[in-house]
Amino acid sequence: MLLKYKIKSVSNLIKINIENKIMIFKRKNDLNDKENLMRNKRRWSLLGLLLVALMVFGACSNDDKVEDTDIEGNINIVTSFTIIEDMAHQIAKDKANVYNLVPTGTDPHEYEPLPDDIKKAEDADVLFLNGMNLEGGESGWFYKMVDSVNQKEENVFELNEGVTPKYLTDEAEQVEEINPHSFLDPQVGIIMAENLRDALIKVDPDNKDEYEKNAEEYLKELNEIDKLYQEEINSIPKERRILVTSERAFQYMTERYGLDEAYVWEIDTEELGTPEQIKGLIETIREKNPPVLFLESNVDKRPLETVSNETGVKIYDEAIYSDEIGQKGYEVDTYVKLLKHNIRIIKDGLSE
Ligand SMILES: [Zn+2]
Repeated sequence: MLLKYKIKSVSNLIKINIENKIMIFKRKNDLNDKENLMRNKRRWSLLGLLLVALMVFGACSNDDKVEDTDIEGNINIVTSFTIIEDMAHQIAKDKANVYNLVPTGTDPHEYEPLPDDIKKAEDADVLFLNGMNLEGGESGWFYKMVDSVNQKEENVFELNEGVTPKYLTDEAEQVEEINPHSFLDPQVGIIMAENLRDALIKVDPDNKDEYEKNAEEYLKELNEIDKLYQEEINSIPKERRILVTSERAFQYMTERYGLDEAYVWEIDTEELGTPEQIKGLIETIREKNPPVLFLESNVDKRPLETVSNETGVKIYDEAIYSDEIGQKGYEVDTYVKLLKHNIRIIKDGLSE
């Protein structure tokens, strides 16, 4: 069940931060450990007080986010993370003001909205999220924030609507949770772009023609990328078609185009690079002989380095992107560039 909050004051904002932390804490630790829970509560209360102090002195700004200059008369879009921010820009172009929540370099699973974020969410005409558990699911930070500002449900769109989820499994092959990384599969990107277009038309029908035109060009590009993925992967010798990464982020993409996958850990929010996980991957590598390993742009490189040292299989010298696009002005700063970058290094790495 979602808890209802009204954030009209600083104290309520802090309450949300504390609730978020407690929720995360509950998931990671033994629920029955009351003493620890109380200790954590106290710790976060203190942090809350510190936050008040920062806000009073006006120091609580968000320097990482370069805000677009808002144009009056435009609709206001809020996006949950960088890939959707880029998609919104591509399809709305100059008809919307886009404000993004989770910046590059920050984990979208366990984000804590800042005062600016909450203000923007309150004023938004439309809000886009990935869904599929990326933003913590039904009781995660995103829906909690939306609820707290009394946003209307009909203004919130999960762009993965209509995508069949794939599930992460534990060691005993038991289903655990939805893998949120569907967007690394270009065919899912197409569905997300279509959903975004349709949502924009719904909330801003006056600009329907513009959104349709922009989306058509964008979808054409994504369809070409889909073909490119299939061609490039088909051109890799069969015994070399295996993608080894740190996180199991490429499940959708590899199953779609016929690659085998191997990884150190299932998802970034769980335990990362335990001795058992590393041992497991080393065994898989000895069995399947991948030509190369791929390191993601946003993970600790040490676990994969250990695997590389133990097996003698080298890590490809360019990073693969799994959770975000690069900062604006850098090489991989759009979703289209991310998809093209990934397939280029996969093809090169596995063909060498
Ligand atoms: Zn990830």
